[in-house]
Amino acid sequence: MTDTVFAKILRGEIPAKFVHEDEHCVAFPDIGPKAPVHLLVIPRKPLKNVADMGEDDRALVGHLLWVCRKVAAEAGLAEGGYRIVHNSGANGGQTVDHMHFHVLGGRRMTWPPG
Ligand code: 5GP
Repeated sequence: MTDTVFAKILRGEIPAKFVHEDEHCVAFPDIGPKAPVHLLVIPRKPLKNVADMGEDDRALVGHLLWVCRKVAAEAGLAEGGYRIVHNSGANGGQTVDHMHFHVLGGRRMTWPPG
């Protein structure tokens, strides 16, 4: 867990341009954007994914969604809409084992995801 790229971003060992930071989380652009706007919101706490959540983490994850809403609005996505994605575990498509929410927008999303 502590060796994930997101842990390194939190420790300042890998650069990222934070568009939001507070005591609980940070948000920054995805290095491989899948849409004109593609931001990641990650907790400072080293949770792996929602499957790794405990009851005590419910408020934290609610806060992460609130920050998703905030950075989406600041990116100009509120009116047109956007997508929030969380991949949990291998079958969910998770590749970085530190909890993160993708905020995707700026184009019309398709459904279902692959
Ligand atoms: P997952 O597939 O786990 O849901 O999403 C991981 C995301 O992290 C991918 O969209 C990938 O592009 C992004 N990512 C991987 N390494 C880095 C990095 O070093 N910096 C940033 N900003 N994003 C990264």
